[in-house]
Amino acid sequence: MKRRAAFLDRDGTLICERRGLVRAPGDVRLLPGSGAALRRLNAAGFAVVILTNQSAVARGIIDETALRAIHDELRRRLLRHGARVDAIYYCPHHPTAGGGRYRKRCRCRKPARGLLARAVRDLGLALRGSIVAGDDLRDLELARGSAARPVLVRTGKGREREDAARRSFGARLLVYDRLLDAVTDLVRPRQRDAGAPQPATSGGRRRPLRAGTSSRAVRAGAREAAAAGATGASRRRTADSTG
Ligand SMILES: [Mg+2]
Ligand SMILES: [Zn+2]
Repeated sequence: MKRRAAFLDRDGTLICERRGLVRAPGDVRLLPGSGAALRRLNAAGFAVVILTNQSAVARGIIDETALRAIHDELRRRLLRHGARVDAIYYCPHHPTAGGGRYRKRCRCRKPARGLLARAVRDLGLALRGSIVAGDDLRDLELARGSAARPVLVRTGKGREREDAARRSFGARLLVYDRLLDAVTDLVRPRQRDAGAPQPATSGGRRRPLRAGTSSRAVRAGAREAAAAGATGASRRRTADSTG
C-alpha cells in the first residue's frame, strides 16, 4: 500500500516570510503550530514533503548551498518539536529573472507539477487521501484534477487569496486558519484505531471533509481531535523512548 502524504508549501505555510525572503538559516522562523502539525502527520504515517519555489536562486539572491543550509536549519527546528520532514524539493528557476542557467521555463516551478511528480515517484506516494497545503493558488494547483485534497491556510498570503481560491476550487477546497488546524481536523492519529487494521483509503477520509466550515466550528473540532490525539501522542512517546 502506498503511503499518503502531506505536500506542503514552505514560505507562509510552515515558516514566516521575513521581508519576503529567507536568505540565511538565521531567518528561519516556524509559524505557530508547524512543529505540532508535522508531528501529528508523522504519527499518522503521512509522508511530509515540502515543495517550494525558490526563485531567489535564479535571481542571484542566494545560491543552492545557502538554500540547503536553510533547509538543514528548518529540519533542525522541526526536530526540536519532535517533527520529521521526509523530503524537501525546490524549484530554483525563474522563467524571466536572472541570467544564468536557472533562467528557464522549467517544469518544476509551481503551479507546474514537476516537484510533486518527482516526490510521488521517489517516495512511492499515493495522491488519494493525501493533502496539498499552501497559502497561494499556485500551491493548490498541484491538487487540481488529482485525488489529493487542496487545503488553503490563512497564514502568509492565504487570507488575501481566500476568495480567489474559493472561486477557483469551489467545494473541494478546505480552508483553515493555520496548518495545525487543518491537520488536526483531517488527519486522525493511527493510535485511535489500534488493533483494527485500516483499509487503504480510510484514515482521514472517514471524517467528512467539509468545505466552507466556519473557523469557529473548525476550532471546536480541532480541540476535540487534539484532546483525543493527546493520549495517543503520549503513548507513542513512551513507546519511542524504549526504542
Ligand atoms: Mg507560500
Ligand atoms: Zn524549476
